[in-house]
Amino acid sequence: MKIICVGRNFPDHITELNSDFPKNPVFFLKPESSLLRTGKPFYIPAFSNDIHYELEVVLRIHKLGKHIHERFALRYFDRISLGIDFTARDLQNICKQKGLPWEISKSFDNSAAIGEFINLDKIEDIENFNFCLKKNGNIVQNANVSEMIFSFSKIISYVSKFMTLKIGDLIYTGTPAGVGNVVQGDRLIGELNGCKLLDIEIK
Ligand code: MG
Repeated sequence: MKIICVGRNFPDHITELNSDFPKNPVFFLKPESSLLRTGKPFYIPAFSNDIHYELEVVLRIHKLGKHIHERFALRYFDRISLGIDFTARDLQNICKQKGLPWEISKSFDNSAAIGEFINLDKIEDIENFNFCLKKNGNIVQNANVSEMIFSFSKIISYVSKFMTLKIGDLIYTGTPAGVGNVVQGDRLIGELNGCKLLDIEIK
């Protein structure tokens, strides 16, 4: 399986990082070794002094697809969850400045935290629901998927032009504003429409 991550998909997050607004979805990959299941602790790696959380809605692909038309794209995932795209922001900034690939800052072990999955029938409107992240009990990220620049359909359609989507692939669909760093002892809880799906302790 592969893990596809979309960057720059919420206007307020693009502004907070001083990035440019994209014309097409921007995406990158994380390897399977980056997965971290909810309930397991995240250990801050020694190579970074600035690990950030990025809460994202995650789609699980359940059908093989290539060149998927936007109109049919919503049929290609059956379950969704919340995940954290852990990012070594210090390393990422160096990579960006030098124009280098940013895998060392994004694709390291345990950098793709994933919560419990729920079936789509649990969500009334798949293009209009809230999700939020609580850090030590305080809400630090709070958004609605309707604010996304590129919808789930657009993302699936665009990615599948370049890569065949396979059963079990995960798509992280981008983070809203409010990203920030984590330190030992922090606790991150992700909620979708008020339902807790993700719980990660930072060690
Ligand atoms: Mg991200």
